[in-house]
Amino acid sequence: MDPAYTLNDMHKVLLEGVKEIVGAQEAVALLKRAGKSSCAQAGLPLNRVNAVFIEQYGAQSGQGVALRAGRAVFKHGLNRWGEQAGITGMDYRLLPAPKRVRAGLQIMAGIFTLSTGLNVEISEEEQAWIWRVDSCAGDQDLHASAPMCFMVVGILQEFMGWVSGGKYYRITETRCTYAGAPTCTFRIEKKALE
Ligand SMILES: [Zn+2]
Repeated sequence: MDPAYTLNDMHKVLLEGVKEIVGAQEAVALLKRAGKSSCAQAGLPLNRVNAVFIEQYGAQSGQGVALRAGRAVFKHGLNRWGEQAGITGMDYRLLPAPKRVRAGLQIMAGIFTLSTGLNVEISEEEQAWIWRVDSCAGDQDLHASAPMCFMVVGILQEFMGWVSGGKYYRITETRCTYAGAPTCTFRIEKKALE
């Protein structure tokens, strides 16, 4: 049976990715802590996970762990869903590069929305793709002074590296619900860094 795009599957992918960076025991404990919010029960503790990483490892190391875990999460998601989503087949690989990026982002956004219920919108500017995630209204007790969803940055970085054959693109979270914005907005530069 094909794996479904359910919250349960998303949790599995998340756990597999986090495990790879911090070990199995620690991953279970961290995700349990991240799951203790009204938002996480409705959706995915993806943002909350970043807060827990920072609590556990401090600001700088926590950010590093979140980025690396995000990269691992992409790889596990690709293993679980890639074929079913049509992102590993020849049709997809033969698309011209900009279309391949755009289609891949759309597919990932679709999986994210189906599994978590949080809407993701992809848009395009001249120099960047924009990934925008709805806020999670139940999670208002958490506040940060700066954008903090580094795990999503890691996921997007790994995708861009994978889709481009190993190039590195600058990705920044420009607005974050935890820093008071209505959505978390990620900017993916179209031009790779040398
Ligand atoms: Zn955010």
